Amino acid sequence: MVDLKGQYEGIKNNVDVSIAEVLDSSAFINGPQVHAFQNELEAYLNVEHVIPCANGTDALQICMMGLGLQPGDEVITADFTFAATVEVIALLNLTPVLVDVEPDTFNIDPKAIEKAITPKTKAIVPVHLFGQCANMDAIIELADKHGLYVIEDNAQAIGATHTFKDGKKQKAGTIGHVASTSFFPSKNLGCYGDGGAIFTNDGDLAHTIRGMVNHGMYKRYHHDVIGVNSRLDSIQAAVLRAKLPNLDVYNEKRRNAARKYSMAFKDNPDIIVPKTVNGCNGICDTCDCHVFHQYTLRILNGKRDDLVQHLNDQNVPCGVYYPIPLHKQKAYVDDRYNEADFPITNQLVKEVISLPMHTELDDEQIEFITKTIIDFVNN
Ligand SMILES: *Cc1c(COP(=O)(O)O)cnc(C)c1O
Repeated sequence: MVDLKGQYEGIKNNVDVSIAEVLDSSAFINGPQVHAFQNELEAYLNVEHVIPCANGTDALQICMMGLGLQPGDEVITADFTFAATVEVIALLNLTPVLVDVEPDTFNIDPKAIEKAITPKTKAIVPVHLFGQCANMDAIIELADKHGLYVIEDNAQAIGATHTFKDGKKQKAGTIGHVASTSFFPSKNLGCYGDGGAIFTNDGDLAHTIRGMVNHGMYKRYHHDVIGVNSRLDSIQAAVLRAKLPNLDVYNEKRRNAARKYSMAFKDNPDIIVPKTVNGCNGICDTCDCHVFHQYTLRILNGKRDDLVQHLNDQNVPCGVYYPIPLHKQKAYVDDRYNEADFPITNQLVKEVISLPMHTELDDEQIEFITKTIIDFVNN
């Protein structure tokens, strides 16, 4: 599904030099590389504050702690996402409220959000799933109308650009009150271990969060709030510094691969190619709204599971993200949910399949993968 070794070979010199600097300095925690990376990412995203931390799950949890959300507060998020999102809501004793997604983009449905808002609702967590922003025009409008926080889960869309209806452009993760991301190795900007970060333009919130990631300390051994231990280590920061200058090129390579996949599949009656928010199906040459963390098809007419089996037999990697709606996961089942409220997620879990997507895919691989799939569904 990914080719991290191939990618490493292309940047080996920079990465090795960057890591060697850390080894020479022995500043393994909070070394100068962490601060340098923080500044470089702030500049890249055009955001006031980046606070590095240990992983994307911590990042989300700390966003919610930083905003001062309290037990019983309701937090609305998507039913169709990785479990980390709902997990941290539940861990903080907040009340997760899962809602359905849109069939075209797989992202949280603003109409479903609106329906779920109650006097207890405090925040919306849009997940920018598979590499493109949720409908942030509608989400920001709802949040403003109801006085809610917007926490972007940007683990899958770093480098994507959202274009608002009025033409204004902003990078994913810089739109809401606060955002989280993950540098897990297979993410679009991945390190060589675990890593994550929080982004915000709110200086007071940034200050609160900077203390929270370090045991609630704002002054050494003075613990003003309950915090956590969540740090990005210097070696991971060194890797990320070597990779950040390539992020746009990496994302363009992903978009190129997505274009080729979509060109091959777009007219097949059994296959729905992923739609981008501006409707160009990822084929548009100037499109930067989608960074294709995953390239995810919908396979119609009940053929998905047989296709997965066939691809496994042919040694073509594929994945099903995600096979079970969160509201049906044992840990998160709740009487409050009504099946009729999740028609799209319930359908998508039976239809989606994600294909190999990374920076090293070549034409020959893409042709083999598309041919194998088309031959199978046409049979
Ligand atoms: C990967 C991911 C996370 C968690 O990131 P980790 O760094 O693995 O903790 C959270 N949300 C989404 C949507 C993700 O894809």
